[in-house]
Amino acid sequence: MKVGILGAGQLGQMLAQAAIDMGMTCRFLAPPGETCVEGLGDLTIGDLRDAAVLDRFAQGLDAVTYEWENVPVSAIDHLRRRVPVRPGPESLRIGQDRIQEKQFFRSCGLRVQAFAPVDAPRDFRMALQAVPLPAMLKTRRLGYDGKGQARVMDARDLAAAFEMLGGVPCILEAFVPFDAEISLVAVRGVEHDGTEMIRFWPAFRNEHREGILDRSVSPASGMDAATLHEAQRGVREALRRLDHQGVLCVEFFLADGELIANEMAPRVHNSAHGTMEGAVTSQFENHMRAVAHMPLGSTEPRGVTAMRNLVGSVAQPQAAMPPGTFLHLYGKQPRPRRKLGHVTSVAQREIDAIAACDAAFAALQGQPASARG
Ligand code: AMP
Repeated sequence: MKVGILGAGQLGQMLAQAAIDMGMTCRFLAPPGETCVEGLGDLTIGDLRDAAVLDRFAQGLDAVTYEWENVPVSAIDHLRRRVPVRPGPESLRIGQDRIQEKQFFRSCGLRVQAFAPVDAPRDFRMALQAVPLPAMLKTRRLGYDGKGQARVMDARDLAAAFEMLGGVPCILEAFVPFDAEISLVAVRGVEHDGTEMIRFWPAFRNEHREGILDRSVSPASGMDAATLHEAQRGVREALRRLDHQGVLCVEFFLADGELIANEMAPRVHNSAHGTMEGAVTSQFENHMRAVAHMPLGSTEPRGVTAMRNLVGSVAQPQAAMPPGTFLHLYGKQPRPRRKLGHVTSVAQREIDAIAACDAAFAALQGQPASARG
């Protein structure tokens, strides 16, 4: 089985490592920029809008997948004429536009906060009628890690926020005073006989720092079972409507006991990196299984998992790691706000998983052992 991966960052690296363990070979196509897939397969740096580049890439592949959500949909449409692309273009198309995404969530029975499009200043008045303040103004496209968004506290702030975001089409959405941020990560694939399989890993509770994921803990506590099941029903519906094949992550706010869908990523997700050690089958393995039309593995947890990202720099990469913790460094050059690696721990109790993960994090960052994030 030869699989093509669009993108060559750390998600591509971890997907390829899982694929190689299952006897597959990988080939990568990525736009210019730093890559971290050396030794994992042939890499072409090229323009994903160039048909000749795509045709060369597709030659001899059994399937193609992607590791980032801003792949041009035109590239998927082109490749699909030559080789199966999983997930397909619909997951990308909807995930690339925050308005379509929210409308889609609603159609799947997921709750969303009040929102309205702001494509131009003429939309200010209508948007402010539809959305209570305070609110967030976000670019409809190409936002990530908290980029491309501004808080709007007062109606008079809207014009300045719109200008600050470059005057591009935006969404105004109600600010949600959330108690926690939760992600549901699911995988949809097929059995040997072609029947559908959908599996969820236990929910993740996510904490961000400066707009970047800092810590994820799973299973997420503080949510009742009925709330979780209702949200899972909506995600299952989304997977089916998209005919999504592979991993899908939907991020939620937990507020007043309700899960409010915020956005989705049609790919493996940072919050679920801990599944490598914390689940019977990792998100990377199951994604590649779905892409290759192999039966999925169990998503059962092996305990409580805590995961922390190593962002910007790692002071002591050679530090001794506490027992029960696992280090993953991606081989990237240090740079502010760049994700360089992550550390995971698995334990029977949440308090122990978090303590071990924090101890490993502190050691790697050259902080005293008692330093808490
Ligand atoms: P996003 O790019 O939509 O994932 O937003 C990045 C982060 O900003 C989220 O993880 C939240 O911490 C915060 N955020 C975004 N939208 C909202 C909102 N409507 N209400 C409250 N916090 C938000």
